[in-house]
Amino acid sequence: MFRSIFSLLLALGFAVPANGWAKVKVVASLTDFGALAREIGGDRVEVVTLASPTQDPHFVDARPSFAVDLAAADLLIYAGAELEAGWLPPLIRTANNGRILPGQPGHLNVATVVPLREVSGGSVDRSTGDVHPQGNPHTWVDPRNGLRIAVAITQRLKAIDAEGAEVYEANLRDFARRLGDKMREWKERLAPFAGTKVIVYHRSWTYFLEWAGFVEVAAIEPLPGVPPADSDVTALVEAQRGAGVKLVVAESFYPSERVRFVAERLGAKALELPAMTGADGTTGYIDLIQRIVDRVAGALE
Ligand SMILES: [Zn+2]
Repeated sequence: MFRSIFSLLLALGFAVPANGWAKVKVVASLTDFGALAREIGGDRVEVVTLASPTQDPHFVDARPSFAVDLAAADLLIYAGAELEAGWLPPLIRTANNGRILPGQPGHLNVATVVPLREVSGGSVDRSTGDVHPQGNPHTWVDPRNGLRIAVAITQRLKAIDAEGAEVYEANLRDFARRLGDKMREWKERLAPFAGTKVIVYHRSWTYFLEWAGFVEVAAIEPLPGVPPADSDVTALVEAQRGAGVKLVVAESFYPSERVRFVAERLGAKALELPAMTGADGTTGYIDLIQRIVDRVAGALE
């Protein structure tokens, strides 16, 4: 990219990267999108991720450095469907970077490139505190969506950096092959547990459970983003008693005592799962899904 700028920089005596031109700057709201951008972009991209993989992605403390990163970005990747509604839009306004605004190749809203679940058609009353008013934004834990997101990233990187098109397509083919092999392995591992009934703390596992062939019977939160009162938890336990729930799952940032309480009362296992790449020592997107599959299968074996 920027062949003319590259020439200009050379003429002015600026140092340029070894690959000849400036790297594509990718800013990802979540580590998963950053990991996928690294898979596709390789050394042609420089990736910055904003939210930590161990914090609730709905509620992130926006640091001033985030706006600085966004101001320099060639490509912004975010979950959309209001996952980041509480913290990302003001940062985008502050960054004032035309390259990452809606309609530009540098604006990738993941919710527009995967099939969204739990879309209510706009009837959700936001005053209730529901943080999923536009559907369930936790799409990336379904590996089929991981591939869809990787394809979208490839298209965007090709549009932004046409010189790298062949590299991006080769990296996508390689990623798709590795992920495809793993998906067959994971499905085989999970197949004996098809139909397993699961309670979640937050509805962040919907896409994974659907792909895995499991059944999400309830959430401990009365509404996404609304912490349960004691009475909610008691009512949930009463409603699910004898239903054969095997697992109660949650990320590390949700109250584990609620999760354990529900699991104990229902004779189920409480299971903490990493939902974002980098949590629990995971080193990439495929590694994250591998860890989730290992944990889930391990708890049921
Ligand atoms: Zn959520």
